[in-house]
Amino acid sequence: MSTWERHDVVVRTTATGHELTAPVFRCRGLNDRPLAYLQANVHGGELQGNAAILALLEMLEKETPRGTLVLVPRVNPVSANQQVGDYVAGVYDLHTGNNFNRGYLYLTGPSRSASAACYVDVDSFADVHREAPLGEIREDFRAALRAALDAIGQEAATWGADGRLEFALAIQKMAVEADVVMDLHTGDRAPRYLYVPEGTIAAARAFGFPFVLEVPPRFAGALDESTFVPWHDLAEAFRRIGRSDVPRFVDGFTVELGSMNAFSLSQGAEDARRIASALRYYGVLDGEPDIPPHRITACAEPDYRPLYAPVGGLVDAAVAPGTPVRRGDVLARIVDPSRCRRMPPRASDAIVEVRAPEDGVALLFHAFSSVSKGARLVSMMTRTRTL
Ligand SMILES: [Zn+2]
Repeated sequence: MSTWERHDVVVRTTATGHELTAPVFRCRGLNDRPLAYLQANVHGGELQGNAAILALLEMLEKETPRGTLVLVPRVNPVSANQQVGDYVAGVYDLHTGNNFNRGYLYLTGPSRSASAACYVDVDSFADVHREAPLGEIREDFRAALRAALDAIGQEAATWGADGRLEFALAIQKMAVEADVVMDLHTGDRAPRYLYVPEGTIAAARAFGFPFVLEVPPRFAGALDESTFVPWHDLAEAFRRIGRSDVPRFVDGFTVELGSMNAFSLSQGAEDARRIASALRYYGVLDGEPDIPPHRITACAEPDYRPLYAPVGGLVDAAVAPGTPVRRGDVLARIVDPSRCRRMPPRASDAIVEVRAPEDGVALLFHAFSSVSKGARLVSMMTRTRTL
């Protein structure tokens, strides 16, 4: 039988003193580990992960996990409530302009504080643990990451923390305990796809989503990176002193569940089935992962490129998000009737065709049908391969 607990974590306190909280559901199955941390809706308009987590809760009524799950739907009440008219302006913090998924701390990188070069120095850690068994390395390194977060928290208790740091600490204190992290997002207008740590092929196949972007071990402040990059850095530090048996112990994923503002419980059940398959791969749930239902197309994240609007106007998409295209195929038409200058006016003068600069997949269309010149129009996977 599973043991369930719920508590609420404060992610911001408003000027009127109201604490904005996120619900944290913890399900301990047969063991404490492996431990999975899943959160949804860090970007306010990206709703579908909540349906997936709800379906996972339902699944866990019938199934006792082998490990433990920490599930945090509606993780960001700040962004979820940034509503302007009907529109949820949920990617950027209206208070600071920062992207809510770029403010996490790089715990093996340079420190924010003036006092130290980095939070956790992987080379000195590897040196001290040169002869240590793998289990001890994993435990001690996790303890070092935890201690770094505690130290940052203590400094914040003295000097205060800006909203971004308060949010990062609240989330990372939960995520740092995990063996696998899944941050549930959506694209703008997109099919289901996945950001995976470079080379994480078997896990990507276990998810079975049709498109995969492989993230190199660099740090731009996203939760998936803050999860796996420190463990990658650790493995590299051991490699530098001649130990190649230390793997990257922890994986982090950004799971993109379709389009912004869409929400479907029945799709959520399907999303949860895919996520559960990956959790089986990681041993958090019992049983074998599913065989992917179709071909998976992958590219390196640096080869996932935005195409910018060459002119302003109204966007008529010529292909659906997720369509494979050849160089020269029309992706969209940008329409502006004020471009009709010849008399009598010709409708064709209003239209500028935008073509694919390379072969690839037109994965994601940006959210709006009215764009200025230079707006991101389509994001394309290029140099793709099949997993
Ligand atoms: Zn997002």
